[in-house]
Amino acid sequence: MLPAPTSLPDPYEERDERFAACQGDTRLEVLFEGARFAEGPVYVPAGRYLLFSDIPNDRLLRWDECSGAVSVFRSPAGHPNGNTLDRQGRLVTCEHSGRRVSRTEHDGRVTVLAERFGGKRLNSPNDVVVKSDGTVWFSDPSYGIASDFEGVRGESEIGARNLYRVDPADGRVELAAANLEIPNGLAFSADERRLFVVDNGPNQIRAFDVAEDGALSGGETFATCTNGVFDGFRLDRDGRLWAAAGDGVHCLDPDGTLLGRIRVPELVSNVVFGGPRRNRLFICGATALYSIHLAVNGLEPMID
Ligand code: MG
Repeated sequence: MLPAPTSLPDPYEERDERFAACQGDTRLEVLFEGARFAEGPVYVPAGRYLLFSDIPNDRLLRWDECSGAVSVFRSPAGHPNGNTLDRQGRLVTCEHSGRRVSRTEHDGRVTVLAERFGGKRLNSPNDVVVKSDGTVWFSDPSYGIASDFEGVRGESEIGARNLYRVDPADGRVELAAANLEIPNGLAFSADERRLFVVDNGPNQIRAFDVAEDGALSGGETFATCTNGVFDGFRLDRDGRLWAAAGDGVHCLDPDGTLLGRIRVPELVSNVVFGGPRRNRLFICGATALYSIHLAVNGLEPMID
């Protein structure tokens, strides 16, 4: 018999009547407690499990959808932060102390996708997404080298906090955007013609236009955070953004309006849609993993 997860009632706060159509189960489930700072959830559909990072404890954790058990997937793990799957279903991980983006191959080997730009070491890759053409896009703020808590204290060799893309076919790391102060979470729209990026400088989500060749333009403000700071986020199939913030998960309409929030009893770092129907939102709070079944479906995964 599996233990029933703890659940918290009354999780929705409506700010706009359009939020009513998004609400599903009336309980926020607490799936795991005991992280020092949880981040980077990624749902692995073939294995029916979810991996997430516990950055200061230098480990990747694995929550099993079938048993509800949580175990250590990898430790040490380079003080991991953001995770995603590539088009072949391989795990891609941002590593703070590794100062790199790595890929876990199907045979279990860990290979390096990116660790330098212009010959200089990256700062501390934070969050990552994979475009349908296989290119890997990641943010590189300096949180992971600012102290020995979320990584290893160190100097920025590049001297800037940028957004990059790497083409695994040739290993070339290119600058995607240099006009962000502190890039963090990122995600493409369904048609990949827009890229949304959190900038923790002005504490906003910005929206870039993506050209055929991957060049970014625009970058106008999409939304400003109203509580705490934005961090990771994901899109649902109707184009809404579900964004980590200081008081839970903020649901933003495609027009940028804050529709409502999911109340979480601590700050939230990142989210991902999962479950067989992608209608279960997994939420990394600072110390715990939560989930809630919504009336919307997530965009991911984009696995061939
Ligand atoms: Mg982040």
